[in-house]
Amino acid sequence: MKPILECKGLSKKYNNMCYALTNLNLALAPGQIVGLLGPNGSGKSTLAMMLAAILPPTNGEILLDGNNIWALSPKELRLMHGEVQLVLQNSQGALDPRRRIYESIAEPLRKLRHLTRQEEQHTVHDILHKVQLQDDILMRFPSELSGGQQSRVCIARAMALAPRLVIFDESVSGLDVTVQKKVLDLLLNLRQEYQSTFLFITHDIDVALYMADHIFVMKEGKIVESITDAHGYDDFNHPYSRELIESLPPKTPYNR
Ligand code: ADP
Ligand code: MG
Repeated sequence: MKPILECKGLSKKYNNMCYALTNLNLALAPGQIVGLLGPNGSGKSTLAMMLAAILPPTNGEILLDGNNIWALSPKELRLMHGEVQLVLQNSQGALDPRRRIYESIAEPLRKLRHLTRQEEQHTVHDILHKVQLQDDILMRFPSELSGGQQSRVCIARAMALAPRLVIFDESVSGLDVTVQKKVLDLLLNLRQEYQSTFLFITHDIDVALYMADHIFVMKEGKIVESITDAHGYDDFNHPYSRELIESLPPKTPYNR
């Protein structure tokens, strides 16, 4: 199957001279949940922002349906932003603290879809129920919500556009394990319903295994291992991945 999104020879150098990503190749097939696992500083967020066309690459190209996203016209780029969504963790400032939740969810719809007021309200309420939140949340501010609720709002904001590809960058990190598991299950249900492709970025191997079948392991701006059928720790072979697993504190892995 043709990949929905692909990157070839992707590199990123920030102005401090050090390469955050070097010569990275990756292809996402439609309908897949792909996991991207790596420690802090390995370049995951840099990659996420480049794939979502928020940050330009230093070298290499990113192809959406075979078209280089950095060669798109402004109109095509807008279309792309509606199809590829990036979901951040709220502690990274995903939600504007001065904005009511309704406005946060409606904002991308206003930018990227031409809806009447009534259609917009319908879409916001519909997605709110799909992420299992109550209507009264819409008039509140992010600081009045729990971490789990904030994370559901961030998911609603992206999924309201019915994107073809969603990139989750540490979207559930920082949540309690039980809350985290509920949000992950919600995401699995939403993916079934929308048939979107998910790129799930995390530093947590258990979360990666729970969500994804295909897992890429990243270290220092490079992909060091690609596992197409990952079910447990034993499927990881690269010495770096083994090191990562051996350093884990003992705990019970999630079971789907
Ligand atoms: P991760 O998401 O895996 O933690 P990042 O992509 O955030 O990794 O960072 C990769 C590397 O790039 C790190 O060394 C980080 O310090 C550096 N970096 C990230 N953003 C910037 C920036 N805006 N300017 C300079 N260096 C950056
Ligand atoms: Mg990051």
